Amino acid sequence: MTRFQSSTPLRGAVIFDRDGVLNQDVGYAYRPDQIVWTPGARDAVKAVNDAGLLAFVATNQSGVARGLYTEADVAALHGWMNGELAKGGARIDAFVYSPYLPDAPIEAYRRDSDCRKPGPGMIRALLADWPVDPARACMIGDRETDLAAARAAGVRGVLFTGGDLRPVVAQVIDSLRA
Ligand SMILES: [Mg+2]
Repeated sequence: MTRFQSSTPLRGAVIFDRDGVLNQDVGYAYRPDQIVWTPGARDAVKAVNDAGLLAFVATNQSGVARGLYTEADVAALHGWMNGELAKGGARIDAFVYSPYLPDAPIEAYRRDSDCRKPGPGMIRALLADWPVDPARACMIGDRETDLAAARAAGVRGVLFTGGDLRPVVAQVIDSLRA
């Protein structure tokens, strides 16, 4: 089931990994005070918005399966991040996360889920729920598992190796023009 009409025009999309792309990967961040934005990250998200592309985050959050924090913490953090983005006129259209881990200490999350990158599940869910043209969708990640997830979902993938996110995203936006 999809949330959009079949007549809805399809749009390009940029799918950001979170930790290591939008914010520094400090390991299992779940509170606002642990978020240090990557240089240019908020402007990069705004550039995606301004280009008429959808902006998504797809993030593995095995900290939930490990019992370090809860899904409510993840949702609250993502709400906070969108609040911070809104101050600069930017927004993430949807956050998706995988709380699972095959050998999780918390049984409810002990699952070998294809939603956990390198599985394609999160990207596939975004493509199903939003009017996205897969030929004009790109995942930006800082790990090979992000790129593997993109390949498995049939979308492009770009490796972010650090520094200013803006030029990387500008190049991706150029590549996604219809
Ligand atoms: Mg990452």
